[in-house]
Amino acid sequence: MPKPRVIYWFRTDLRLHDSPALKAALDLKPECLYPIWTWDPHYVYRARVGSNRWQYLLDCQNDLSTSITKLNPKSKLLLIREAPQTLFPKLFKAWHITHLVFEKDTDAYARERDDTVMQLARKAGVEVVVRMGRTLYDPDELIKQNKNKPTMTINQVQNAGAKIGQIARPIPAPKSLPDPGNTALSFEQEKPVPRPDFNAVQRHGTENSYAQLSGPNGDFAVPTMEELGLKPATSKHRGGETVALEALSNIIADKSYTATFAKPNTAPTAFEPQSTTLLSPHMHFGSLSCREFYWHVQDVVTAYKGKASQPPTSLTGQLLFRDMYFGAQAAMGYSFAQTYNNSHCRFIPWHLSSKIDPGSGLITGEYQTDDAQAEEWFQRWKFGRTGFPWIDALMRQLRTEGWIHHLGRHAVACFLTRGGCYIDWERGAEVFEEWLIDHETACNSGNWQWLSCTAFFSQFYRCYSPIAFPKKTDPDGDFVRRYVPELVKYDKKYIYEPWKTPIADQKAWACLIKGDGSDDAEKKVDGGYNTYPKPMFDFPERREICIQGMKKAYEVGLYGNDARVKDGSWRAL
Ligand code: FAD
Repeated sequence: MPKPRVIYWFRTDLRLHDSPALKAALDLKPECLYPIWTWDPHYVYRARVGSNRWQYLLDCQNDLSTSITKLNPKSKLLLIREAPQTLFPKLFKAWHITHLVFEKDTDAYARERDDTVMQLARKAGVEVVVRMGRTLYDPDELIKQNKNKPTMTINQVQNAGAKIGQIARPIPAPKSLPDPGNTALSFEQEKPVPRPDFNAVQRHGTENSYAQLSGPNGDFAVPTMEELGLKPATSKHRGGETVALEALSNIIADKSYTATFAKPNTAPTAFEPQSTTLLSPHMHFGSLSCREFYWHVQDVVTAYKGKASQPPTSLTGQLLFRDMYFGAQAAMGYSFAQTYNNSHCRFIPWHLSSKIDPGSGLITGEYQTDDAQAEEWFQRWKFGRTGFPWIDALMRQLRTEGWIHHLGRHAVACFLTRGGCYIDWERGAEVFEEWLIDHETACNSGNWQWLSCTAFFSQFYRCYSPIAFPKKTDPDGDFVRRYVPELVKYDKKYIYEPWKTPIADQKAWACLIKGDGSDDAEKKVDGGYNTYPKPMFDFPERREICIQGMKKAYEVGLYGNDARVKDGSWRAL
């Protein structure tokens, strides 16, 4: 029998430690192992990916490549710029491949892509080996043990998990890697066919990504941001397995923090350092294994002498939430990330603005939209110019750094949807998709549904006040001063409600509260003063309108699969 010639396809697992798929590849005792990354046009052209996440990805790839080379100086991560669906048949042939190995991915697009690749492999006589390693439990197993239903609560995850059995202990990183073999490519690159949304994605400048199959120098190197035509990243957060393992090690070194972590008690206003682990982007790229994280924490908790916190608020509980959203998404496929056709997501007639009966406070007649108003609020929310400093600080932190605390995400998501603007959660999720460095379709869509009370959570009368909520953990407003520097000199009395500041104080503190936020509030200067916009609406009034709208929608009780798009907008069937 000839010895196996293996392609190891890195995707959601940019690491060497605790990789069941990589172990399976090495267990084949291959003659050669090609560690590759294919430049999937789905990611390059179609997904919304901002510069900060691109940089994070390149960091992960560079670090992985260096680590591979440390284990075998002849090897490195081979970046190949072609769609996996067209590339693999050619690679199988060129490199005489016998096995293709990769980590299982249950995202809707990934399943489709992998099915195609597996069919192509079968056709080429190549054996495919797939192992789960992205979540604590295999999402498909979770669904099976949850009566074949999506996991919509933590209890369901815990019950299904108990039937699956103990979460596996992490596997150590390999100590050596086989040679890659001859990497010559004798075939032409197939360029991706531009899609209708191509223009939208060109703004990221990624049209250069496909310059050549093995890169401009023909050496399969990880590209630079410059080479890809991308704007430099603005985030200070950097990726890679080395950084991830160091961050985890620093966290668990603080035994008390690790064992008593309780999410609701962590401050969304904390910065440098933040109050939670900030390990989410590492888990998104798989530069940190979630089982490595889970077991390091669990071992600290087991050995802890004091009273440790428990799921769902504990650190291991946070990982269960992650698994819950993966389980829900795996069961629903594409429909999970939208309202349309989603049987678990409530249909809410978003964009509602003024058609409320002043007497009853209820929606009158047909659902009405006021797109121009909604669009203006949306833009002001997105770019941090709402006139509510807490919301604006968070959105500016998101845009520049790519990460905000979970309760900060709660605040801005509630404000955009059911607790202020009454704008569709999908619009907000799109902004998060572009700007988050930890963007994960399952977690993003699921959490937006939670916050908009369309699924997972239904207490729509509980809204976050942009004034009272941040005061609890940051009475002085330091977080606002950090991200909304126009207000740096403002007294803490007015920091969350600057529109109440007497004009003399506005002048003394070098920032006038004026304008409608249509200009770039961060830069606008008026007669030598900075300016910061007036609030875009009366918050208590909007909260009441939203609650009434939600109440009515809940009474009507429609779900995404009960509604259709008609004349360009959503309508009940
Ligand atoms: P920690 O509190 O330290 O938690 C540890 C880990 O548990 C996280 O790294 C993360 O992997 C997981 N986790 C914690 N909370 C959640 C949660 N509610 N849902 C899923 N996983 C969780 N998380 C993402 O990873 N990607 C997203 O795209 C994403 N979008 C979100 C959108 C909205 C509107 C909201 C409200 C939350 C979103 N979250 C998302 C969940 C959560 O906010 C982040 O995982 C968390 O803030 C990351 O910071 P951390 O690593 O310090 O978390």
